[in-house]
Amino acid sequence: MAKLIPFLDLKKINLRHEEAILDGVHKVLHSGWYILGNNVTVFESKFAEYCGTQYCVGVANGLDALELIIHAYNIGPGDEVIVPSNTYIASILSISATGATPILVEPDLLTYNLDPSKIEEHITSKTKAILVVHLYGQSCDMNPIREIANRYELKIIEDCAQAHGAMYNDQRVGNLGDAAAFSFYPGKNLGALGDGGAITTNDGTLFNKLNALRNYGSHKKYENLYKGYNSRLDEIQAPILSEKLKWLDQDNERRREISLYYLNNITNSSIALPTVQSGPESHVWHLFVIRVNHRNHFIEYMNRNNVQTMIHYPIPPHKQEAYKEWNDLVFPISERIHAEVVSLPISPVMEMEDIKRVVEVVNEYRTN
Ligand SMILES: *Cc1c(COP(=O)(O)O)cnc(C)c1O
Repeated sequence: MAKLIPFLDLKKINLRHEEAILDGVHKVLHSGWYILGNNVTVFESKFAEYCGTQYCVGVANGLDALELIIHAYNIGPGDEVIVPSNTYIASILSISATGATPILVEPDLLTYNLDPSKIEEHITSKTKAILVVHLYGQSCDMNPIREIANRYELKIIEDCAQAHGAMYNDQRVGNLGDAAAFSFYPGKNLGALGDGGAITTNDGTLFNKLNALRNYGSHKKYENLYKGYNSRLDEIQAPILSEKLKWLDQDNERRREISLYYLNNITNSSIALPTVQSGPESHVWHLFVIRVNHRNHFIEYMNRNNVQTMIHYPIPPHKQEAYKEWNDLVFPISERIHAEVVSLPISPVMEMEDIKRVVEVVNEYRTN
């Protein structure tokens, strides 16, 4: 029996940094300072520099990062925010959490990202922002989106939870709108050993407000300017993230090599391969997502051949119980994507032998 090819080997990814991680944790332990200390500040400035922005604020997770941005821009009840209909649910939950109304817009079938030509018809007098999601690691087509946002004076909020390091022309995601949210959930391209998140921006006013909002609405202890949150990046996660940030470009390059190998060598006509819209740097391949008819049949076949796959995501947000009020709405492209997508294994620590085996198994798949 062939050995199991795991979907993602997080332990192997993190053990490459074992010494630096233990050293970082040791230093925090001995500093005696455990919340919002020097390690968070150092990571924030390194991550801002990496993204090309002036500011970065470390927060507790990616969902909070999004919600804090929306809240900080005073977007709430009675306001509308445009968001893709086929994103991970967190993008949409962040809007609902502020009391604003998410307005779902269909994606492009080939890139899986928001279709700029479909945005304008959904803009009303209540629209305050466009929340773009660089899904699966590919940057959205930002020029037409910016043009619309400028014309209607809307904020652009980026959900970069799957796209750390991706470029649009010569700019990094995180620096393509008014403010951007990142997640450092362990499985992301830049992952902590627990929850973590960050906001990047060039807006100094927003930066000041976010610094208070994440800390009970307070700049100065026991003086509260806003009804804030407790959402801070952990001091122990910060040195781990600073270390892993040094490797991010190299890891993303390896993901690109693997994806290129898949794209060039998977020749099975029953598989629809993912599309790269602009240059290779625009995609950091958080996930390698194919489309296939008879998905269950394909997944069972992959399991029988010891290749782990995942589905990102099996149920579209508008069909979730949590959004009962949308269950009767129809989003044909999203529904098709959710019914057909399968993610193949991809990670910077995958061995060549396993990559070749995935291609071989996929190429031998027959629909009957
Ligand atoms: C992971 C993810 C989030 C949420 O990040 P958490 O840190 O898990 O809260 C938001 N949006 C997208 C697209 C994600 O993939």
